[in-house]
Amino acid sequence: MTKLIDDPIALTKKLISFRSITPDDGGSLEFISSFVEQLGFQAKVSSTQGVTNLFARWSPKSGFKRTLAFNGHVDVVPPGEESLWDSDPFSGDIRNNRIFGRGSVDMKSSVAAFLIALKEIIEEEELSCSFVLLITSDEEGHAEYGTKELLKWAVKNNEAFDHCLVGEPTSSKLVGDTIKIGRRGSLSGSIVCKGKQGHIAYPDKAVNPVEALIHFLGELKSLKLDEGSDFFEPSSLNISTIDTKNEALNVIPENSYANFNVRFNDQHSCLSLTKKIDSLVTKHNEETNATLEIKYKCSGESFLTEPGQLSDLLTTSIKEIAGVNCKLSTGGGTSDARFVREYCPVVEFGLVGDTMHQINENTKVDDIVLLKDIYKDFLKNYNKKV
Ligand SMILES: [Zn+2]
Repeated sequence: MTKLIDDPIALTKKLISFRSITPDDGGSLEFISSFVEQLGFQAKVSSTQGVTNLFARWSPKSGFKRTLAFNGHVDVVPPGEESLWDSDPFSGDIRNNRIFGRGSVDMKSSVAAFLIALKEIIEEEELSCSFVLLITSDEEGHAEYGTKELLKWAVKNNEAFDHCLVGEPTSSKLVGDTIKIGRRGSLSGSIVCKGKQGHIAYPDKAVNPVEALIHFLGELKSLKLDEGSDFFEPSSLNISTIDTKNEALNVIPENSYANFNVRFNDQHSCLSLTKKIDSLVTKHNEETNATLEIKYKCSGESFLTEPGQLSDLLTTSIKEIAGVNCKLSTGGGTSDARFVREYCPVVEFGLVGDTMHQINENTKVDDIVLLKDIYKDFLKNYNKKV
């Protein structure tokens, strides 16, 4: 048996070295599986539709009262133009106390920090709780066969957990200044406005779908959604594309197209928003000859883990170890927490996310150590107090 890596920076470097461009895990999950098996975990790596997932559980010999799960991902977004990087994006090069590489922030470092925190606590403490790892290679991609699949597998195999920590980069400027206790929902809409093509000099013989669409988008944008709620910002609707696919200056095109997205808080659901927008469409279609159709895609409902035991434990550890007052947030994009929340209370906490997905993605090596120390303190208190 080779000696286990016991340093979170060395482990981050090792994880970065796997070319795990989503949804490929690049062999990293087999590596993590054998790492945690040496800590006494029962681990299972499985593949579905080209996605590899790891489920692992550690339990004390004397039994346990509760289970804390950690959810994370080893897949990364593509490095982009590799020649623009100052070092190989999969080398984990360390310069000026920073580690560079794809996944150094999002989120191989937090997987590494959590694994070392687990290793230390298992070696040092008397434990009465169980730990579960839910690690996927499909978070940055479609997320269809990743965490969702792991959770389904867990239910089928009677694997339960009481709380979950997701290691996404949630911090804003300092490690621990922000954790996420919920997320906004996301609904996208794809609009087709159907008119009647014709000569632009004879508009009365055509139906202009461009002007009708512009009018509709104005009404859509001025929809009153809400003023925000206790833990959420106001919902926002934004238009992302307008298109006619029309090259000719003397033609009124047959169709026009637009896309929009709504990031919404806990006062709405995908269904309630769809109904609200559809009633605008009905009104529009009654009033004009250019008819509108919208196809919707719901990427996730909004959710909130009410502040309480789980977030208190985490903010206490952050204050204790990093000396930082932590803000509870529900901002930003979606994450796999949207799947986990159907199973148990979930909070998210990880590094400062300012270079994620960028060329030369990097993080301070000291931040990785700090994150490991906070995770460890949190695990210790979870074991004692929950
Ligand atoms: Zn991520």
